Amino acid sequence: MDFLIEKLYREKNLSDSELKTVIEGFGSPELLVKYADEVRQKYYGKKVYLRGLIEISSYCKNDCLYCGIRRSNNNAERYRLTREEIMSCCETGYELGFRTFVMQGGEDSYFTDDFMCSLITEIKQKYPDCAVTLSLGERSYKSYERLKNAGADRYLLRHETASPELYGKLHPKEMSFKNRVECLYNLRSLGYQVGAGFMVGVPFQTTEHIIEDLRFLQDLKPHMIGIGAFIPHHDTPFRNEKAGTLGLTLRLLGILRLMFPTALIPATTALGTLAPNGRELGLKTGCNVVMPNLSPVAVRKKYSLYDNKICTGEESAECRACLQRRIESAGYEISAERGDAII
Ligand code: SAH
Repeated sequence: MDFLIEKLYREKNLSDSELKTVIEGFGSPELLVKYADEVRQKYYGKKVYLRGLIEISSYCKNDCLYCGIRRSNNNAERYRLTREEIMSCCETGYELGFRTFVMQGGEDSYFTDDFMCSLITEIKQKYPDCAVTLSLGERSYKSYERLKNAGADRYLLRHETASPELYGKLHPKEMSFKNRVECLYNLRSLGYQVGAGFMVGVPFQTTEHIIEDLRFLQDLKPHMIGIGAFIPHHDTPFRNEKAGTLGLTLRLLGILRLMFPTALIPATTALGTLAPNGRELGLKTGCNVVMPNLSPVAVRKKYSLYDNKICTGEESAECRACLQRRIESAGYEISAERGDAII
């Protein structure tokens, strides 16, 4: 079935039935890795971009069935960072060479537009050479607009699944697939660099659902595509479900690189949680972004989306040094640039 991987490499697309064959593991992984790396090197050389991840809140009004910080998890320890703590993460991050700060959190109404706009303005004033990325879930068009005007450059909002039917099985009734998709298109039209993505191996997911995800991404054309294996959290309804596999995640990363040659594709923390060298394997299969944790060590364990999450005990400097070693051992190099998408 190597001819299908050849075809995907040449044409950046396949029919649904051909995609199904490749996703389900026909064709040699080595060939996919070889082409994925060739394509990433054509556009990005050996560069890997760093994003400093600041997990600003573990409060969340939503109740996603897979997520450890879901509202109804009474065992979750909740925290939110103060403005001073967030600024201090940025300061540490800047010294460590980060030129993108990603503020991510649960949907926490404490972080109003006024609060976020004034924070973003201060970060951009202090660090005009840095990009500000937000990952704060679903907000109104007006809110996204205000945050953009305050200086936010990018927004990460995984669509989670492009199948309304599967979306309904992973989320409570009050959450709407239609609204999530609308948010993504709103972000795009407001001029954000947008990141979308989905979980691999989430309960009830079939190959057909994954094909729907790929088609959705072809339509949205996001600048960044983040995928990661689903990993169960012991305090959620999915506690006894199986995790997604490293094999399928890597295969999909390779497919994504061939379908979206210029996309920014992170080697995620979930990949590193599945296997000690998961992120290195991701980098060799087309990934060109890593997101080291910049959150204060005291809160890291509390931002517990899934079990056994890595990098929860180290200082930011250690995290960065560890990732630098991993990136170099995989044969790539850290870029000191902001790392905007090249489309
Ligand atoms: N509230 C924000 C940030 C969510 S956390 C938002 O709605 O976008 C970031 C991502 O972690 C989610 O989009 C989801 O894809 C992933 N995630 C959550 N629970 C997970 C789990 N159990 N295993 C793997 N990934 C998970």
